Amino acid sequence: MQKRDILIVGQGLAGSLLALELEKRGKNVMILDNNPIVSSSKVAAGLYNPITGRKMAKTWLADELFPNLSNYYQDLEKKMNARFHFSKTIYRPFNNIEEQNDWSLRTMELGYVPYIKSTSNHSIEVDQLLDPLGGFFVNNSGMVDVATLVSECKKYFKVQGSYIEWSVPSEALEMEETKIKLGSFVANQIIFCEGPMAAINPLWSDLKFRLVKGEILDISCSLTIDHVVSKGIFMLPYKNYLRVGSTYDNHNQNEEPTEKGSRELLNRLSKLYNGNLKVLKHQAGLRPATFDRKPFVGFHHKHNNVAIFNGFGSKGVSLIPYFAMSLADHICFGKKIPLEVNSLR
Ligand SMILES: Cc1cc2nc3c(=O)[nH]c(=O)nc-3n(C[C@H](O)[C@H](O)[C@H](O)COP(=O)(O)OP(=O)(O)OC[C@H]3O[C@@H](n4cnc5c(N)ncnc54)[C@H](O)[C@@H]3O)c2cc1C
Repeated sequence: MQKRDILIVGQGLAGSLLALELEKRGKNVMILDNNPIVSSSKVAAGLYNPITGRKMAKTWLADELFPNLSNYYQDLEKKMNARFHFSKTIYRPFNNIEEQNDWSLRTMELGYVPYIKSTSNHSIEVDQLLDPLGGFFVNNSGMVDVATLVSECKKYFKVQGSYIEWSVPSEALEMEETKIKLGSFVANQIIFCEGPMAAINPLWSDLKFRLVKGEILDISCSLTIDHVVSKGIFMLPYKNYLRVGSTYDNHNQNEEPTEKGSRELLNRLSKLYNGNLKVLKHQAGLRPATFDRKPFVGFHHKHNNVAIFNGFGSKGVSLIPYFAMSLADHICFGKKIPLEVNSLR
């Protein structure tokens, strides 16, 4: 039997960043992942944006999450010797005059200052971009190519001898008072970072997941723009194409791209961009969201050496680094996990 401190099931963004935080704190981890072709992390657009939604409001925990986020990913790029983080300004065009007025009040709130780059009350005059009322530019925003990050982390873990490819069946887990046995491994603790798959793991049947399907298109078009445009959908310039997303579907719990999803995206895009385009790629995935929109971080109510790190919904890129540190500090130094994300809440 191979002995490890901690086993991690799942190597998406959550499992990867948590494993690295535990490793930094001296833990000997082993990651087990089934290496799927499609996963939430492999499909994600990877945007992080401190000001979101119709209300153009600061997102939950913005002041804790965003000031350090780009440094966090840049440090990780250095460690992995790879490029997957891109600071990108987000341009949010106004829908109507009311929004313009609401926003001008927002700009006077001190708490918003770090997140606002500038505001324009008239079009920014980018050829073929439809923004007659102008909009505002967001600071402290950007994009992580999550698929590349996960693939680089996998290479790194393989070199460390801390990764194996295995689709872990829930019945393979043997839980004892002070140790865990799984296949040829014995460990003190196990942490499940299974993304949407957790919703069918009987161990976590008490937790209320709410999987949300999302579809995304890569298109080629003649729009030339450096920043992300976000209004209902986003247009993200990346490499030599534009990524356009995403849909939100609570009913269809599968990873199949659909005609309906593509039509919805193209229809919404036509309200932002009026030029020609060609669809290059169409993908779909499931977001591991929860009913109360807060992640699940912490230990099982019956098994004190079994934990979960999941439920990051559509905000994994901004939430996972912060809560990976929080769970690693809890495990290594006994720091408390905030009640609102604690899986025992
Ligand atoms: C269309 C779309 C667009 C998105 N855009 C954004 C965005 O712009 N910004 C943002 O922050 N977030 C975005 N997200 C959400 C983001 O992708 C997720 O929050 C994040 O990737 C979740 O990571 P995870 O590691 O929890 O899950 P996953 O990425 O699903 O990783 C879980 C891993 O565990 C493996 N696994 C599960 N069970 C087992 C098992 N029993 N044995 C072995 N392996 C197992 C899975 O196969 C997978 O590899 C988007 C998601 C979608 C679908």
